[in-house]
Amino acid sequence: MVTFLSGGTGTPKLLSGADAVFEPRETTVVGNTGDDVELGGHLVCPDVDTVLYLRGGRLDRELWWGIADDSATTHEELVSLADSAGLEPGPRYLDDDRQTAGREIARWRRFSGVGEFMHIGDADRAVHLTRTSLIDEGHTLTEATRTLADAFGLTVDLLPMSDDPVATIVHTAEGPMHFQEFWVARGGEPTIESVEFRGAGDASATPAVLDALSDPVVIGPSNPITSLGPMLALDGVADALAETPVVAVSPFVEDTVFSGPADDLLEAEGYEASTAGVDEAYPFADAFVLDEDDGTDLDRPVVRTDTRMDDEEDATRVARAVADALEAVE
Ligand code: GDP
Repeated sequence: MVTFLSGGTGTPKLLSGADAVFEPRETTVVGNTGDDVELGGHLVCPDVDTVLYLRGGRLDRELWWGIADDSATTHEELVSLADSAGLEPGPRYLDDDRQTAGREIARWRRFSGVGEFMHIGDADRAVHLTRTSLIDEGHTLTEATRTLADAFGLTVDLLPMSDDPVATIVHTAEGPMHFQEFWVARGGEPTIESVEFRGAGDASATPAVLDALSDPVVIGPSNPITSLGPMLALDGVADALAETPVVAVSPFVEDTVFSGPADDLLEAEGYEASTAGVDEAYPFADAFVLDEDDGTDLDRPVVRTDTRMDDEEDATRVARAVADALEAVE
């Protein structure tokens, strides 16, 4: 048995070629939910959905989010209707008192659907609508995710990190904003001052997640702050990781990040923007997989390979390095 911790890019890439190394039916994937939003009343879980669509064979691999060849009629109508109605387009973050009213899992992440600031395809929206409706019928996010995973034919067990709301809020020079507003609407431009996981103090990892964390854990290349941070902010997760073998793949080659805002976010939180900074952010890691061009000296076992993953063959190579590193520490 093995458990992967996943954001929306690096670990899904690794999972795209992991089956040759890790038996899917013995694999659990825990998805970050700090990036989730409620948009126009529908709960969107970007990290969980990327794994769902990837493993269900339907991911748009150009964008690395959404469903391949999806139409976007509803999205386009929403944008054009807002325009005709003279409504300012999104992101329209709801007022403070509306953030915590009603459906609990949507707290601190509620955006109006007017003008829709995220591009949501029609088939993608059907997933969000089904998920939200199952939650409104009384199911947990874990149960709704399992139902969707069955519908998409997943062979791995896909779990959201929590059934409670945790919202990644980025405090910037232009004020606090939800991570999706910072990244999707503002292109990561505002200067980051700090990151808050709103709600994490009252949220719990699910029993299924805590159980999965008793197996060896793989942290694929991830944003340590916005993908792993929300998980680590949940009571018991860091302790569970300290007790089990953990192998992490660096999202850097020394101080060069492959993609995304991990460098700025690490620096804002007081870490070096490099493999050494990731090592410091993961005190529970027992071994690392680093790129063959990454000479960072770590005081734990390191397996080196070419860690750039452009296709399944690359992902299988990195997965083999992960298995070698696990073997060294199990
Ligand atoms: P999210 O999309 O914000 O949820 O991002 P993730 O938490 O999945 O993290 C993406 C991280 O993966 C970034 O920091 C990238 O540097 C890293 N990354 C992206 N592609 C690759 C790759 O091919 N190889 C490696 N080693 N890292 C990658």
